[in-house]
Amino acid sequence: MSLKDYERTGTITVDEIKMPSEEHLKRGVAIIECVQEIPCNPCVDACPFGAISMEKLNATPKIDYDKCKGCGKCVSVCPGLAIFVVRIRGENGFVTLPYEMLPIPEKGEVVDVLNREGKVIGEGEITNVRVENRTGVITVRVDKNLIMEVRNICPKR
Ligand code: SF4
Ligand code: SF4
Repeated sequence: MSLKDYERTGTITVDEIKMPSEEHLKRGVAIIECVQEIPCNPCVDACPFGAISMEKLNATPKIDYDKCKGCGKCVSVCPGLAIFVVRIRGENGFVTLPYEMLPIPEKGEVVDVLNREGKVIGEGEITNVRVENRTGVITVRVDKNLIMEVRNICPKR
């Protein structure tokens, strides 16, 4: 059996993600980057709109972008920190991501933004902070072209 790209590198690529449409991105949608078949499904139960489904417990989750409202309720329940919400408004992009480090950044703070490999790819401004299920759910404003790349943040302090 040949290894998939993410099994070789440890990170998935944008090519392996089902891309939302422009309309979906304007409204905001969850991007699920869960590729391993493990027995896990809290994301399915967390969605109040039935947008996430799974054929069986150890299948990978599927998202219906037409049903997703971008509410972010699924972000903090994922033990794999594999769910993000992305949105575009004009030239700005917004990425909502799970954050389990301390201290939790503050609204208005400028932070470094990191890609899936943990490399700094720019700066962003924190626009929303909440804590759910003991996990920070952080929204960061970035250039709209970075929404499918930014997957973590690093405070500068
Ligand atoms: S962002 Fe909200 S509507 Fe979309 S999949 Fe997650 S819980 Fe469901
Ligand atoms: S909760 Fe996270 S790790 Fe578990 S199936 Fe859903 S996306 Fe995958």
